[in-house]
Amino acid sequence: MYYRKFNDYLKEKYGGRIQKIAIDAGFTCPNRDGTKASGGCTFCNNQSFSPYAMSRKTVQEQIEKSIEFYKNRFKNIKGFLAYFQAFTNTYADVDTLREIYDQAMSYDEIIGMSIGTRPDVVPEEVLDLIATYTVEKPEIWVEYGLQTAHFRTLRKINRAHGVSEFIDAVLRTKKRPNIKICVHVILGLPDEDYEDMMETAKVIAALGVDGIKIHPLHIVKHTVMEKQYYKGEIKELDIKEYAKLAVDFLSYLPKDIIVHRITGEASEEELIAPYWCSPKYKQEVLKAIEEEFKKREASKQLMLI
Ligand code: SF4
Repeated sequence: MYYRKFNDYLKEKYGGRIQKIAIDAGFTCPNRDGTKASGGCTFCNNQSFSPYAMSRKTVQEQIEKSIEFYKNRFKNIKGFLAYFQAFTNTYADVDTLREIYDQAMSYDEIIGMSIGTRPDVVPEEVLDLIATYTVEKPEIWVEYGLQTAHFRTLRKINRAHGVSEFIDAVLRTKKRPNIKICVHVILGLPDEDYEDMMETAKVIAALGVDGIKIHPLHIVKHTVMEKQYYKGEIKELDIKEYAKLAVDFLSYLPKDIIVHRITGEASEEELIAPYWCSPKYKQEVLKAIEEEFKKREASKQLMLI
């Protein structure tokens, strides 16, 4: 094992498969509704934006359907992790958040939750609320979208937050030590060179977070990046380049960091480039990363001889 995979960590801890259930609780994003900015991040698909009031399945319906589906599909499931994935999942007042999180946490089968959000949308009272869930179900994660630790790139991709807000969010979250922190990054962002990307890894390593999600930059339809891509302003990575970058990036992080993801995909209908970010190439990307690890291990052994 070259890195600590999230699924393996869960399996070891809970003695079997823990299935993530992705939940869309109807949140929006302050980078789309004009509160922080409008238009969203340049890589984010604005077509899929749907206001909170739009009719959709309730949190309970989503959880119950998923539990039933996965229990029929896999025999060895030990539990489920509620993953609040869509948009900014702390973007509401505390009472609304409590109501939504309570719905998920009320199921015996749910062993915890993972909350995806922006680093500038976690006031103290929200972190205090999240910390209360760690008493009964200790698998509580907050996933911060950082993407890069470089302010100019953040500005370029219209993140509408800075590096300082990310550092502040992590330090304040760490004051509640039972909340686990995962950070999302994108490798291959416009105008970033190798050193820039490795510097992002070093910043994350210095902060001592628990988990990481690494994605290759991929361009999807209905985004600002789509237009930039067709104008020739975005360079795409190839699989081997990405594999090398991902392995180098991981080499700067603590050995025991939990890797939630090491690549990323978009559906064939949505994806523009690179082609290998479609789900059908996922195994090829993972294989390229594995090969890269093997190559490095072999060259280390040669050096020892
Ligand atoms: S990527 Fe996240 S923060 Fe950026 S616009 Fe989309 S939902 Fe908002």
